[in-house]
Amino acid sequence: MTNDMSMKRRTLMTAGTMSVLAAPSIMTGFAMAQEKTDSQSMHQAPPPIRALKLGAFKVVVICDGTRVSAKPHETYGTDQPEQAVAELLAQNFLPADALVNSYSPVLVDTGSEVILFDTGLGEGGREAGSGRLLDGLRAAGYTPEGVSAVVLTHMHGDHIGGLMEGGKPTFANARYVIGETEYAFWKDPARVGTPAENGHKGVLEKVVPLAEKATFIGDGAEVAPGISSVAAFGHSPGHMVFRLQSDGKAMMLTADTANHYVLSLQRPDWEVRFDMDKAAAAASRRKIFDMIASERLPFVGYHMPFPAVGFVEKRDLGYRFVPASYQLDI
Ligand SMILES: [Zn+2]
Repeated sequence: MTNDMSMKRRTLMTAGTMSVLAAPSIMTGFAMAQEKTDSQSMHQAPPPIRALKLGAFKVVVICDGTRVSAKPHETYGTDQPEQAVAELLAQNFLPADALVNSYSPVLVDTGSEVILFDTGLGEGGREAGSGRLLDGLRAAGYTPEGVSAVVLTHMHGDHIGGLMEGGKPTFANARYVIGETEYAFWKDPARVGTPAENGHKGVLEKVVPLAEKATFIGDGAEVAPGISSVAAFGHSPGHMVFRLQSDGKAMMLTADTANHYVLSLQRPDWEVRFDMDKAAAAASRRKIFDMIASERLPFVGYHMPFPAVGFVEKRDLGYRFVPASYQLDI
């Protein structure tokens, strides 16, 4: 199967001379940007942040980092011909041989609480230039000690990595809000010897020590006044998204319901390597983005291109992502 896929890739590379020629310059551009970010971090320049107003809430999206990876078809549309993935990317002015993933934790200041949704890659991501959440938090005028609650959408490493620093809780004064289904899955010793073993170890190290300060929630739970959970299982066994509501304004934090703004939104039924239950993940994408489209809500998607904020319009096969411009500033 691997041979077959690499054969197809070689054929595509030979056929698509233009994209092959275009790719190196794009890669170089990103490599240079990445290098600049790394050297900047040593001089304490903060990562990108974007503050938004939602009623009486202040919402701050923080760029924990970005990563370029090769071979989009090995992650998105894994049940589709490679050519179909390449064509959809080309239609959307994107290269077929590389993609950019960004990581965007969100801080919500409700006026009475400072609530952080997910924690980025943490210390494990620093060597590669990620794990920049704390720099961003400070740049936005907050401190780790001032975070009063940490909410976890799910327990993949890019969401729980920042919970601990040097073996100590990063957010010393925070309570935690954790999905009960997600926690039960990852904590279970039955994960040893399965593909989920590494995730299990990560949860033992990063989440279990915080459990005594945690509230375990299911679908429709209130995290704080105006903030409630919505089950969106599939990407992981207990993946949750959150609805924010203040003064008649609403927004969704969709976490990893869709992981690419073109491939996951325009073709929500295509299989994604990272979705642990592929059929359930596709059903959750439909459920959540149908709601967002019909209510015309803004949303923050953890892996959408930074600042990761936008809207969706329903189309024949899926959804068109409309990046936010100034809608939330006025
Ligand atoms: Zn993720």
